Amino acid sequence: MQTFKVIIIGSGFGGQCAAMRLLEQGITDFRILERRPFMGGTWCQNSYPGAAVDVQSPLYSISSEPYRWSQMFAEQDELQHYTEMVIEKHGLREKTQTNANVKQVRWDEQHHRWHIETDAAGTFEAQILINASGPLSTPVIPNFPGRDTFKGKAFHTNDWDHSYDYHGKRVAIIGSGASAAQVIPAIADKVGQLHVFQRSPHWVLPRPDREFSSLEQGLLGFKPLYKALRWSIYWALEARVVGFKYSAKGLELFAQRKAEKFLEQQVKDPVLRNKLTPDFTIGCKRIILSSTLYPALCRDNVTLHDKHDGIASINESGIVTQSGEQLDVDLIIWSTGYDATDGVISYPVIGRDGRTIADAWSEFPRAYLGTALPGFPNLFIVTGPNTGIGHTSAIFIIEAQMNYIMENIKRLNKSGHEVVEVRPEAEQAYTTMIHREMEKTVWKTGGCNSWYQSKSGHVIAMFPGFSFTYRQMARHFKPQDHVFS
Ligand SMILES: Cc1cc2nc3c(=O)[nH]c(=O)nc-3n(C[C@H](O)[C@H](O)[C@H](O)COP(=O)(O)OP(=O)(O)OC[C@H]3O[C@@H](n4cnc5c(N)ncnc54)[C@H](O)[C@@H]3O)c2cc1C
Repeated sequence: MQTFKVIIIGSGFGGQCAAMRLLEQGITDFRILERRPFMGGTWCQNSYPGAAVDVQSPLYSISSEPYRWSQMFAEQDELQHYTEMVIEKHGLREKTQTNANVKQVRWDEQHHRWHIETDAAGTFEAQILINASGPLSTPVIPNFPGRDTFKGKAFHTNDWDHSYDYHGKRVAIIGSGASAAQVIPAIADKVGQLHVFQRSPHWVLPRPDREFSSLEQGLLGFKPLYKALRWSIYWALEARVVGFKYSAKGLELFAQRKAEKFLEQQVKDPVLRNKLTPDFTIGCKRIILSSTLYPALCRDNVTLHDKHDGIASINESGIVTQSGEQLDVDLIIWSTGYDATDGVISYPVIGRDGRTIADAWSEFPRAYLGTALPGFPNLFIVTGPNTGIGHTSAIFIIEAQMNYIMENIKRLNKSGHEVVEVRPEAEQAYTTMIHREMEKTVWKTGGCNSWYQSKSGHVIAMFPGFSFTYRQMARHFKPQDHVFS
């Protein structure tokens, strides 16, 4: 068994930010455990054609790590390069054990330690456990009848097989969310035929992307200018919360009309346009930013199957649609998303008295600041319940969470105590506030079913307000909400 003060599970931006902040505090006695053979999380894993961020890169970056981006919305290879630059610069590779899939963690009440079991990398022990296993890191493939009988090639966008040549092939892509919207235009002109299976359409707005000139790239190297650009993007995006939460009329006037017009301009065929028109308020599901999706869907070699003509079953050679048509395909691309709400932690967590997080979340996932839970001492969940943010950078929230996590650790160190735990009544009050505020948002009132909701119907993936409100709460530690012992 290897013993550390802190174990971090996951090496994406969440794990990296946690490690950087520990190092800033002078804490070097930690390990990052990563289940993949490589570090980096989202942008090292998702290498599907067209993969790119949909938040402007100067904002979608770690605040202390500016970068000379080549375009406003960076593509996957540049994001991977950025991630690897951060990892190298802070010496995080030496602090990480890869191929270390955590299969269970258990709190040892007697010794005040977490025991961490991995599949093949042994057992670890730590006083403090930071889960950064990612909100969108465990892919889901629905169990369609006959799914496993298909004899062609099949993979999830999260696990793209680059050894497979899709040029000229008959391809089906299942799903029409954010990843599918990037893959479809990237491959439509290269495949023979493309069948797109859409359960429900999303609202789409043009993507205001552009390349940075070499002069602009040079200017991005000046920290004050980078910071100024970052904040101007931040406030422009933050204004969207007014529509998401406080003004349905504003949302309709400024966003939905624009999206309707965009659809009308780009899709001339009324039947196709009808299939692509959502029946819910814009913002209820993640808005897709793409200037190339609609033209790709209009191509002669692309067929859109909506919910009335969805998948009935899968067989050896392809897909049988609900209208009974057999579609023979060579490749099935699963673009069916992630277990983002009920499975927000990818392994069983056993807390005090043998109670699991699954027990604690049997009704719905919940946590104080989306980070801490009573009964699970010294455990911090990065990107936990209700920390998601559809309108701005997830890294902004991750960094805000770090303020809270590091304050807990500082106070533990300073006081000489071994254990910190959030009080049940504090967690209850926080969760009540979150779901009361959620009632006002478009995610609750917009008339859609989305991956933002858990099985309970509660919206779990989103924080119901301005991201600066979350940051303020995470910055101001409330000692009265915690027990140190
Ligand atoms: C395709 C895609 C596009 C996205 N686009 C955007 C965007 O435009 N804007 C935005 O703000 N956010 C976006 N996101 C959300 C993105 O997840 C966050 O921005 C951010 O990268 C999350 O970082 P993370 O470290 O929490 O998770 P991840 O980057 O997912 O890292 C989690 C890590 O934990 C590891 N792990 C998981 N389980 C275990 C285990 N049991 N044992 C050991 N290791 C484990 C995983 O292998 C992974 O490396 C996107 C996500 C995806 C998948």
